[in-house]
Amino acid sequence: MSGAARILFVDHAGVLGGAELSLLDIAVAFRDRCEVVLFEHGPFETKLLEHGVSVVAIPSGAALRGVKKGTRLPSPTAIVGTVVLATHVARRAKKAALVYTNSPKAFLIGATAAALARRPVIWHLRDILDRSHFSASNLRLMTLTANARVSRIIANSHATADAFVAAGGRRDLVRVVHNGIDPAAFDRVDPTARLTVRRALGIPDDAFVVGSFSRLHPWKGQRVLLDALETLPDVHALIVGGALFSGEAEYEKELRHRAAQPTLAGRVHLLGARDDIPALMSACDLIAHTSTLPEPFGRVLVEALIARKPLVASDAGGVREVVQHMQTALLVQPGNSAALASAIMRLRREPKLAVSLASSGSSHVRERFTRDAMITGVMANVSDVLEHARR
Ligand code: UDP
Repeated sequence: MSGAARILFVDHAGVLGGAELSLLDIAVAFRDRCEVVLFEHGPFETKLLEHGVSVVAIPSGAALRGVKKGTRLPSPTAIVGTVVLATHVARRAKKAALVYTNSPKAFLIGATAAALARRPVIWHLRDILDRSHFSASNLRLMTLTANARVSRIIANSHATADAFVAAGGRRDLVRVVHNGIDPAAFDRVDPTARLTVRRALGIPDDAFVVGSFSRLHPWKGQRVLLDALETLPDVHALIVGGALFSGEAEYEKELRHRAAQPTLAGRVHLLGARDDIPALMSACDLIAHTSTLPEPFGRVLVEALIARKPLVASDAGGVREVVQHMQTALLVQPGNSAALASAIMRLRREPKLAVSLASSGSSHVRERFTRDAMITGVMANVSDVLEHARR
């Protein structure tokens, strides 16, 4: 039986992006028999420790920071850094039965470590592997490594799975396990939070507020929301999320500059990274998901509907597996600020439609995207891989 086999989870990030929040739930479910390796210190490490998960940070220093999704060829420093890190991870992998990697960087290092330690490796794939996000050489490196070394790809959506196969990955390695969210924190929100949050931010009680809940990155499309807002004179925007990864500080500067312009000043509230998402969502009248590229899954879509908020989302990628146009949300062309503005206006003018979409959306995601179903799916794949490794 695979019951007591130890798992080594590997993630490169110390910050809390969607991939890390999802891994947090998984690691908690395995906490009696796992260790998490991160390549930097940070809030993710703190959260894991708070939940009683054993975690070790092996800071990678400059070696990994220089490696970007779009990098054409890794530098010699990055190659040496990768090998050194992989050796450290391999030492820990020897004490586990399986290496479970959670990001492209973690996968490349984890797969090398697993090869050194002679352990099977799973890649929980949470990225759309295509040319809009990755260089051709990085795509080739990832798919070749996956095809040769991985025992299982757990894709967080069919969109993610299909992109892996289109990039040259083996279809037989892939199983889809959608993300799931625990609604408890959303159901605990005090009904007074709506006004408390608004008053703390200086937003009038009766203003129409559109929320955006994503890390700040050009492809997450906060810029598109600001463009839409230019044509919606009395609408406020609550933009929640930090510039989590390197290179995004410039984008944050641009957003802050725009938010201060006379046409938007006082209506755009850039709050940075927050951990009180349920309370902040409760202060919104509508939530906008504005990614300009196909979203791999979009946890925030599920959260918005769990919070019973009307949702307007970009019609691409995994979004189509989470919500359906005119049944649970309004879907609009990615990057089209005019379409976004008119969908926002429509839901504002047609409150009955807004309430009905939010209510059927909430029932749908509460049934379909549960944390328990995600954990069950992950555990089944882990058991399966361990079973095969023993034969
Ligand atoms: N989020 C958060 N604090 C913020 C902004 C976002 O905790 O300030 C959370 C959000 O609630 C969601 C996750 O970050 O759970 C983002 O996941 P998603 O899949 O939408 O996007 P990703 O970051 O994985 O690209």
